[in-house]
Amino acid sequence: MNIPTTIPFVDLNLQHLPIKNQLQQAIQKVLEQGDFVLGKTLSDFEAAFAVASGTKYGIGVACGTDAIALGLQACNIGAGDEVILPANTFVATLIGVLRTGAKPILVDCDRHTGLIDLEAAAKAITSKTKAIIPVHLYGQMVSPKKLLDLADTYKILIFEDAAQAHLAEREGYRAGSVGIAAAFSFYPSKNLGAFGDGGILLTRDQQVAEKMVRLRNYGASRKYFHTEIGTNSRLDTIQAAVLHQKLPYLQNWNRDRLNIAKNYDAELAPLTTKGIIPIQNQSGEGHVYHLYVIRVCESCAVERCVIQEQLTSLGIQTGIHYPIPCHLQPGFANLGYQIGDFPQAEMLANQILSLPMYPGLSNNQVQKITDAIAQILTVNSFDKNLLFT
Ligand SMILES: *Cc1c(COP(=O)(O)O)cnc(C)c1O
Repeated sequence: MNIPTTIPFVDLNLQHLPIKNQLQQAIQKVLEQGDFVLGKTLSDFEAAFAVASGTKYGIGVACGTDAIALGLQACNIGAGDEVILPANTFVATLIGVLRTGAKPILVDCDRHTGLIDLEAAAKAITSKTKAIIPVHLYGQMVSPKKLLDLADTYKILIFEDAAQAHLAEREGYRAGSVGIAAAFSFYPSKNLGAFGDGGILLTRDQQVAEKMVRLRNYGASRKYFHTEIGTNSRLDTIQAAVLHQKLPYLQNWNRDRLNIAKNYDAELAPLTTKGIIPIQNQSGEGHVYHLYVIRVCESCAVERCVIQEQLTSLGIQTGIHYPIPCHLQPGFANLGYQIGDFPQAEMLANQILSLPMYPGLSNNQVQKITDAIAQILTVNSFDKNLLFT
């Protein structure tokens, strides 16, 4: 019998094993220094990541969700304000807004890219709108030029959710350098991942940076002197040490992801006529492919769940990012949204499938995955035809 090769959805060992000694030494150094919270190892990494992202200040926090929630607060966004964000995002974006007391205003997305629909966003702007949160979804930035135009026209802030877009570029901008501030996550499977949870807020604005430094540290402007209600949310020194070791490799890892995506695109091109369409890359070489997502369109003879199940049975792991759009999550029912409010986001939730994507995924593996999809389409469509003959 043929034992199926297992291709995982993500394989972090491929990143970590080649630099294992380096990572161990960095961790060892933190242990020896006995300095585990805040301190120079953290501030060195914060500065390095800010510079790499084309901006000035970095403030490490416990996770990406905190970077959004505290970061919005650091931009003085709160009760009475409206914040525009896409319905097609991970719930953390929405949770971040809700934690500030501001009112989230969801808008639909573009069906080709899954990114926020900026025309819909413009229509949603009111006198209370304080900010828009573009989510650089799947590793592709929302057009900086269009964002800056919009923000300039309506005098609103841009707060980037760059949790999936470390070092992504578009139109000459890097993710994190477009708006007043940007939130990143270092969840292990993100393009730059810690050995646990972590996040950072980037900003070029000194006041935002200073407020963020207070907010993550109990609202203290100096020791035991508290000027606001902050919280305890710091990026652990050990995580900062690990992340700083990994940072120099990030660009190559991202390039690897881009090459894998190009490979997928080429291999999947013949399946377009069968209803398999990759999410569009409109930013060329600047896409950092946190995820490689295809659509199983209505015209496809085989349902997404069948394709996913059969890939699983062939040992190929896939994901759906995300199966239920934010506005239809039961936890947010009190926001008053309904099925039909954001047709593109709802359509995508039903069609999308994320294929394995990580630095080190080989051409051979991509071939196996795309061959498997082609085979699943052929076999299942054939069965369907047989029924009618
Ligand atoms: C991962 C992610 C977050 C949240 O980051 P955590 O570190 O898990 O809190 C926020 N927004 C998006 C788009 C994400 O992908």
